[in-house]
Amino acid sequence: MLRDFFLGFIKVHILHHAALEPVYGLALIQELRRHGYELGPGTLYPVLHALERAGYLARENRVVSGKVRKYYTITPTGLAALEEARRKIRELVSEVLEGVGPTRLPDTEEALSRAESAAGRPRARGFQRRGGRR
Ligand SMILES: [Zn+2]
Repeated sequence: MLRDFFLGFIKVHILHHAALEPVYGLALIQELRRHGYELGPGTLYPVLHALERAGYLARENRVVSGKVRKYYTITPTGLAALEEARRKIRELVSEVLEGVGPTRLPDTEEALSRAESAAGRPRARGFQRRGGRR
């Protein structure tokens, strides 16, 4: 599960760097290591290919000291996705790290009975909440 979270963070990270300059695998592995993500080419390359297939990254092969190196640059679609991710990250940071937002979720059961009694139908109680009513 934690791996799922981190793979999402890593994708956003890759898009962020690919928006600043063309990036390649080994440099990304080093940059991600600096951020505390230990991942090898076997994990990174499938992620890069998936981002490319999704149309978020464009690949360009360049020859660097006699070897082909694959550089990735963000596309307009990738940039739009990165912007959307930034909005979600801002929201997440403000709630999870800064405690902005409700401390409790709305009481769904109460809201439902209110809506139903407004509609003139009493609600049948199908379950009992553990620990009784708050
Ligand atoms: Zn970084």
